[in-house]
Order: sequence, then C-alpha cells, then structure tokens
Amino acid sequence: MTSYNKFNLDTQIIGIIGHPIKHTYSPLMHNISFELKNLNYIYLPFDVPFNTLKAAINGMVALGIKGFNITLPHKENILQYLKNVSEEASVIGAVNTIVNDNGSLNGYNTDVYGITESLMPYKDELMGSEMTVIGAGGAARSAIYALIRNFRPKNINIVNRTEQKAESLKEYFYSKMHFGNICSYELVPFDLVEVFRNSKLIINATSLGMIPNVDDAITTIPQSFTKGQIVFDFVYNPLQTKLLRIAEIEGATVIDGLKMLVYQGAKSFELWTGEQMPVDHILKALKLYISTN
Ligand code: NAP
Repeated sequence: MTSYNKFNLDTQIIGIIGHPIKHTYSPLMHNISFELKNLNYIYLPFDVPFNTLKAAINGMVALGIKGFNITLPHKENILQYLKNVSEEASVIGAVNTIVNDNGSLNGYNTDVYGITESLMPYKDELMGSEMTVIGAGGAARSAIYALIRNFRPKNINIVNRTEQKAESLKEYFYSKMHFGNICSYELVPFDLVEVFRNSKLIINATSLGMIPNVDDAITTIPQSFTKGQIVFDFVYNPLQTKLLRIAEIEGATVIDGLKMLVYQGAKSFELWTGEQMPVDHILKALKLYISTN
C-alpha cells in the first residue's frame, strides 16, 4: 500500500497519455516497482484526446514531468514534438516512451524490447524460419522490426483484415530496412491454413480475442497449428485467449502478451530511473491482478 505522506518536493512524476486510458495496467506496474525499489516517483494516467496532444505535451514540459508513456491514438503523431528519436522508434514510426531531458523530449519504442525478450528463449529454433504476423498497426510494425533485427526470418507473411495495409507495410519495410522477403495477405482464415501451418512463428498483433470479445480469434481452424510451432498473442487480457487455447491443443508452444507488457515497461522504467524493474515480482503481481479482475 502506498503511503501518500512520502510524496514531497523531490517526488518525480511519470505519466501515461492516451485516449481512452482507463484500461491501462502501467500505473499499477510502475507504482509497485517504485515502491519496491524505494524510488521517490509516482506514475499517473492522463486522458488526452487526439486534438489536445500538443497542449498536453507543452504542459508536461512546463510542469517538469520526468517522462511518460504514449499510447493510442498518439504513438505516431507524437514524433513531431520530439528532439531525438531512437533508431527503432524512427524505423517503426511510433513511440511509446518519452524521457524529458530538461525540456528536450527523447522518444523510444520499448515494445520492441518486450517482443524480443518474450521470444529470446526460442531464439535457436526461430532463427532463419518462416514467420507470420497478423495485424498491420503499430504493434505489428514493432513485431516485424524485432523479427528482422533479431531472428533473421526466412520470410515474413503479413496478414491483415484490410489487405491494402498489409501491402503498404510490406513496401514500408523494404524501404526502411531493405528486407524484401515479405508476403502480404488478407485475413481469410480458410485460405491461409497452409500459410499458418508452415510458419514456425505466428504472432497475433491485432486486438482480436481481447475482453469483452473473448470468443474471437484470428482463426479457429485447428489445422492452422502444428506441434513445434510457436504462437504468440500480444493480447494480455485475458491471458489465455481463444487463439492460444486452440493452438495449445494442437501441440504448439504458446506465449501470452504479459511478458511483452512487463518487459516493455521494464525498459521504460530503466530509461526514466536508471534502475532495473523487479520484473519477476511484477509478472506475478500482474498475473494475479488480471486473473482476478
Ligand atoms: P492498432 O494500431 O489499432 O492496430 C490494430 C490491428 O488490428 C489492425 O491491423 C486492425 O486491422 C486489426 N483489427 C482490429 N480489429 C479487428 C477485427 N475485428 N478483425 C480483424 N482485425 C482487426 O493497434 P496496435 O497498437 O497495433 O495493437 C494491437 C494489439 O496489440 C492490441 O490488442 C494491443 O492491446 C496489443 N498490444 C499489446 C502489447 C503488450 O505489451 N502485450 C503492446 C502493444 C500492443 P485493420 O487494419 O483492418 O483495421
């Protein structure tokens, strides 16, 4: 339990700006971490609609807020207000973490770290393999970047509801990273059974399956999955999505979105405080919180 009388003139404020913002677990994750590490910081959510981003950023700087996370719908629009942008955020074109360095705002994309850490235990089997990413939004872009940088894919299939966006992403990564082995598809599960089945890794980077729509999945065709495959769902609420349930029954190794969530937060925490987040503790705390709320 936070003791509020500990906040004083030296307390550093960290925030998250987005719209809507009510669903975020970041305040819980960071405030527990500050408490455990005995750091004089507080993390607060700020609901900032799309057209008030500029005013919010000016306010953050004026108030000396030390850093903040950026979530939907601002991850791309924020770039114009930043002094420096890290390499991965610049390639992806989206920022989720900002450090306020005495009025100069520096942007990072720590989702890449969260994705990479989640997949690292499987690095040997993933290297050089066929991979599929479903989705063409910011999370999919982070995934494609992380795969190209760290797992040398033989080929990446981008699958999306709106095929044109998958096609644009294919061209985007060719121009940004000179990676040409990308195919794009429309999300028509029946037509994609072989594409899914032949992929060593399948990533769901859409919101399909998230509460309250827990009966949705990118595919419910069991033949899409196979033993030895890795299926990674970015959704973390619920932890076991319908997609992961079906894939697990077919013998695939499944990864939920919790580790990604915690590790992206851990990298942001390190950028703001210079300290390591107590990740094992936070993983347990969030798992308990998600499964009981
Ligand atoms: P986004 O930019 O809004 O992209 C959403 C993607 O999902 C788009 O490709 C969209 O397809 C697709 N989509 C949405 N509803 C769909 C439906 N009913 N059927 C088929 N496709 C649908 O969102 P994002 O930022 O990339 O995030 C995507 C997911 O990743 C979210 O669930 C988010 O919570 C999760 N995420 C998790 C973490 C983590 O730490 N675990 C971090 C970041 C994001 P169209 O292009 O056709 O609209």
